[in-house]
Amino acid sequence: MKEIDLRSDTVTRPTSGMRAAMAAADVGDDVYGEDPTVNRLESLAAGMLGKEAALFVPTGTQSNLLGVMAHCERGDEYIVGQQAHTYKYEGGGAAVLGSIQPQPLEFEADGTLDLERVAAAIKPDDSHFARTRLLCLENTQGGKVLPLAYLERVHAFARAHGLGLHLDGARLFNAAVEQKVAVREIAHWFDTVSVCLSKGLGAPVGSVLCASAAHIAKARRWRKVLGGGMRQAGVLAAAGIYALENHVERLAQDHANAGRLAHGLSAISELRVEPRAVQTNMVFVDLPAQRADALRTFLHARNVRIGSGTRVRMVTHLDIDAHDVDAVVSAMGEFFVAYAASRAALHAG
Ligand SMILES: *Cc1c(COP(=O)(O)O)cnc(C)c1O
Repeated sequence: MKEIDLRSDTVTRPTSGMRAAMAAADVGDDVYGEDPTVNRLESLAAGMLGKEAALFVPTGTQSNLLGVMAHCERGDEYIVGQQAHTYKYEGGGAAVLGSIQPQPLEFEADGTLDLERVAAAIKPDDSHFARTRLLCLENTQGGKVLPLAYLERVHAFARAHGLGLHLDGARLFNAAVEQKVAVREIAHWFDTVSVCLSKGLGAPVGSVLCASAAHIAKARRWRKVLGGGMRQAGVLAAAGIYALENHVERLAQDHANAGRLAHGLSAISELRVEPRAVQTNMVFVDLPAQRADALRTFLHARNVRIGSGTRVRMVTHLDIDAHDVDAVVSAMGEFFVAYAASRAALHAG
């Protein structure tokens, strides 16, 4: 029986076409700059994002850290969302490894940072303070797409304040597909952009950092220092190329499936879900607190996996189709019917 894993879009398995591309990849030593497939991936990604250069790295965590370190020195500061992956979910890497101080601010409901609040957080040039150097955004943020008009405003703002701009674009392609624009139209407003190949794009490993040649040269140096200099990495890069060439347009299916899931679940009265809030491949569902664990166990027994907590994130991806979505909706419906029946029996007894 097929496992339906909605915990994340990182769980995708490489397709047979992707595996064939990996097996056929030409390789060389990438630390010497001699892996033709890594070089091809880097120029493909840079071209798609409209940047001069790109760097293939093992993870999005490393890509974001390199992005921050390409802008900031020891004693500098970056402004970032309180719930941003780059701040909250990367082990404090910028502070731990880069001696770069984060200044987190709450995201607005739409995933943006309010620019007046950002302006108020920029430190004066004074030896009491870290030097504010960089503003980081995330797109998509919790499945939400940042409005293009906002990106243009952020760009002007950052230039006016002498700040660099980094985008954690782990799901940049989801944003572009939803907005029906080329990724370069989003990337254009940022100096450095990190993109995950290993999320909805379906590669087993890898991210790319895209930026100016100067930023990438700096990042390449730090990548080696961090232990991210890989050798015959072309077998992995081939998966990334395959993903960029074959798995971008199909993200629209993931978005449609997320909408279908939210719509289906909204008919179950015990759940709280807002179908209109679904923009890309993530659905957030509030479960009744007392029944959340029982529901998770019930679903797991039916080969359906969802995240932890009572506000659960459900993510659609390459390995989930509309049929799977319908199976999940009916399994969740069944659970609440069975639960109500067992409660009724208990009270009757
Ligand atoms: C997954 C993710 C990353 C990077 O994650 P890795 O697991 O290190 O590849 C960065 N930012 C966001 C928003 C993510 O979802």
